[in-house]
Amino acid sequence: MRSRTILKDRLEKDAVICAEGYLFELERRGYLQAGAFVPEVVLEHPEAVIQLHREFLRAGSDVMVAFTYYAHREKMRLIGKEDLIEDLQKSALRMARQVAGEGKDNAILIAGNICNTNIYDQNDAATHLEVRKMFDEQVVWAAEENVDFIIAETIAHHGEAKLALQAILDVGLEAVVSLVGHGEGRLRDGYSLVDSCLELEQMGATVVGMNCNRGPATMMPLVEEIRRAVDCHVAAIPVPYRTTRAYPTFQSLEDPGCNCIPDNRPFPVALDPFTCNRYEMALFARKAYQAGIRFIGVCCGAGPHHIRSIAEAMGRTPEASKYSPDMTKHYALGNDPKLKKVNQVFAEQRKL
Ligand SMILES: [Zn+2]
Repeated sequence: MRSRTILKDRLEKDAVICAEGYLFELERRGYLQAGAFVPEVVLEHPEAVIQLHREFLRAGSDVMVAFTYYAHREKMRLIGKEDLIEDLQKSALRMARQVAGEGKDNAILIAGNICNTNIYDQNDAATHLEVRKMFDEQVVWAAEENVDFIIAETIAHHGEAKLALQAILDVGLEAVVSLVGHGEGRLRDGYSLVDSCLELEQMGATVVGMNCNRGPATMMPLVEEIRRAVDCHVAAIPVPYRTTRAYPTFQSLEDPGCNCIPDNRPFPVALDPFTCNRYEMALFARKAYQAGIRFIGVCCGAGPHHIRSIAEAMGRTPEASKYSPDMTKHYALGNDPKLKKVNQVFAEQRKL
């Protein structure tokens, strides 16, 4: 059995890189349906989930996050498959453990994952009980599968975040609680992100912070504020999209360069032209690290190339770095003496 402060201990030593975004990536690959966004792929195409875990592992993720995002009871009810919930959740947890075991020196952390329930209503106490029940069954399964810690993510209500955190603490595990700041940058029940994080820290969260829906540019100022306010570790897990002050979230982005998107809303499946490149994600990771943020990752839209760039920005050389770009041998842009000069001249004349 690993130590009860395994995550905190790791964060005291170095950054912990956490690849997320399984939902978007498996949708893009044709294994998951946008809309309901339920990860039935775990049961229907386990090989696809395992493959993506492996790609994130090779790219340098320190954590294998069990793909149980949106596999909670409310979502399973929505698609009429509540009977599959336990099988799906446990299968996802075992896949994360299997691939973590392929990492070197038993160093890869395994995280359980609970998330926004979409039924929490601050004015309806009955929903609070129901939400707690949903969290409870999931954290028990995660604890039974011996995860190292649990991430409660994409939570937009302070009240719901507290319920998630308490459920995790009650099974004796460390918790990462990461909040989503919608357009106004506040939680839906009126709390500021900072006030919420301060209370979550007091309750016993190991890490507090933010994930999803904001790109690096519009998440950084908010997580920096959280970093300045709390004493515990902070998470920054943006989406890799170029959100701006005018369009602070990926749901709000508009694409004036394209008139063929249904409802004219690029979210969620036409965000391609807004994607941050690997250099932008490396820059984000360096900035976050310099600000004192140690739990660093990428959410919906993440690809293994983003994770590898972040790992390299942290001074690491994950297995996939073997294939990081080396343009010296490019036929026209390179400078290797074995290359044909005529092509380099062609490129120098900017005719490529
Ligand atoms: Zn996300």
